[in-house]
Amino acid sequence: MHGVAMAAPRDLHSPTRLVPRSLALPGVDRPAWSGGSPWGLVWCCADLPHVPEQLLGTEPGELLVLQGAATLPSASVTADIVWAAREHGISHLFVLAHAGCRLLQHALRDESSARLMSGHVGRLGLFAGHDVDAVSRTVAHHSAGSLRRDLTRHGLVPAIVTAFADARGHVVDVSVDRGPEARAQLS
Ligand SMILES: [Zn+2]
Repeated sequence: MHGVAMAAPRDLHSPTRLVPRSLALPGVDRPAWSGGSPWGLVWCCADLPHVPEQLLGTEPGELLVLQGAATLPSASVTADIVWAAREHGISHLFVLAHAGCRLLQHALRDESSARLMSGHVGRLGLFAGHDVDAVSRTVAHHSAGSLRRDLTRHGLVPAIVTAFADARGHVVDVSVDRGPEARAQLS
């Protein structure tokens, strides 16, 4: 997995005690889930100080969690997400930025930080003149767009939800891209 940890679904629940709840995200429908294969994948940073499932209000096992270096795109991350989407039929991908990202803080301070980032991101100038939380949001949105193109090439069209977890563990700035088919239906 090239330095990216993929947490396996945790089978800690019984389907009989599942209570339908809304997600902690406005505008995001929560699929019916009976304790089987996860329906969503959260891609977030390794130093996120909160538990992703708690942030989103889901049961253990509902979501796969992929944690890496902020949400900086890479071929390895894309391959992991493509695998998860195919293996589990993932309908929702969450790209979750967070406040006070130590990895991005380090990258912004360090003149050699370009090595930490893909050349693509560096060329876009995503890190110029912004505070770390703005950079975190920008990276997540850029990565969501980049993933949309990559997943479409693989014939995968999950909803992609981009959001930002603040320091108190509230998920804000939620934007939902329901995918090319949904966009076509709306227009
Ligand atoms: Zn971080």
